[in-house]
Amino acid sequence: MAIKAVKGINDILPNVVGRWQLVESVARRIFSNFGFQEIRIPILEKTELFARSIGETTDIVEKEMYTFPDRNGQLLTLRPEATASVVRAFIQHKLHLEPGMRKFYTMGPMFRHERPQKGRYRQFHQIDVEVFGVDDPMIDAEVIYMLLVYLQELKLPDIKMHINSMGCPDCRLPFRQSLADYLEGVSDKLCSDCQRRRRTNPLRIFDCKVDSCGKLVDEAPVLLEHLCHECGENFQSVQDNLHSLAVAYTIDPLLVRGLDYYTRTTFEAITPHLGAQDAVGGGGRYDGLMKVLGGPDLPGTGFAIGMERLILLLDDKAGAPKERNRLFVACLGEEAKSRGFSLAQELRVSGLSVEMDYESKSLKAQMRRADKLASTHVLIVGDDELAKGAALLRDMEASSQEEIPLEGLVEQLLGRMK
Ligand SMILES: [Zn+2]
Ligand SMILES: [Zn+2]
Repeated sequence: MAIKAVKGINDILPNVVGRWQLVESVARRIFSNFGFQEIRIPILEKTELFARSIGETTDIVEKEMYTFPDRNGQLLTLRPEATASVVRAFIQHKLHLEPGMRKFYTMGPMFRHERPQKGRYRQFHQIDVEVFGVDDPMIDAEVIYMLLVYLQELKLPDIKMHINSMGCPDCRLPFRQSLADYLEGVSDKLCSDCQRRRRTNPLRIFDCKVDSCGKLVDEAPVLLEHLCHECGENFQSVQDNLHSLAVAYTIDPLLVRGLDYYTRTTFEAITPHLGAQDAVGGGGRYDGLMKVLGGPDLPGTGFAIGMERLILLLDDKAGAPKERNRLFVACLGEEAKSRGFSLAQELRVSGLSVEMDYESKSLKAQMRRADKLASTHVLIVGDDELAKGAALLRDMEASSQEEIPLEGLVEQLLGRMK
């Protein structure tokens, strides 16, 4: 029996890869305009990196990570997200010793053992953006603005920005208490996971996917009403900066990131076209993370975009290949095939897109193949033509054909087709 790919881990076939290339190239262009540099981080990390950064008691670490001992018995994990690795690399290579803020982006596969469903896979892909070293609310606004510019550039329909503040440890402590009090009152209605979360980390119930818990969350006290003075002013300043950039947004007090390291500004880009999982991308500030991972106490902010979701939202025609095969070399006879073969390589090296056939089929079959490849021209090389020192060039659009001498053929073709 043939071997199939692992469940929830997909191939990206040539017929859709144009969309992926589009999403990647637009990201590179826009992010670079905003002063971001690409960083490439490994797929495999020590498990403790994620346990420490994401939090031991999160669903990601407890249930979803691909974790295994390697042959030396070291516990390793396929990265479930990118932020922890980017921060680790930043600390490890002492990039904080260079003055000024640093802006990075990265993209690639992440892994979580979740139940596969449309738009959610066990190997999924993210575009990830991180800024280290600034806590000015202006950078929060800039990162939100850049996310919107990117999504608009891809012409995604009906994107709305939701924002919230997660406060700081100072204001989160009293909030945690009032949330815990509320949850105690409704504890018999909570799912079994949330029963446990109520004691370990009550903020996690905001992540619960069980319907009945969602209803209880809607009535729970909100962090936004417990912000300390500084966090309140900070959130106002983020909004003022968004206004100055003409960014429309909705304040969503229920937008709470479950990961331990988030502080203050948090945001999500939402669309009604993805069903229940309505976020295309989201992120926020994580001022405590760098220190948690053993680095300097530098603030950070960033976001992640789900690439599969972007692809789902793209217009059908987006990313369709513009460059089509230009020239097909059709050969008739053994000598012609050998001559055509070296001609094809020479033309490719000279910058033309060229294809040929190796099965010595009839001219009719080769023309059909050229048609299928949408070739604009076919160069017919036959033993008869070779004897005359010439080849036939057929223009597929004009349905015309002319004889060109083999002498100087490459230059002639390049002149005609470039
Ligand atoms: Zn605060
Ligand atoms: Zn629950």
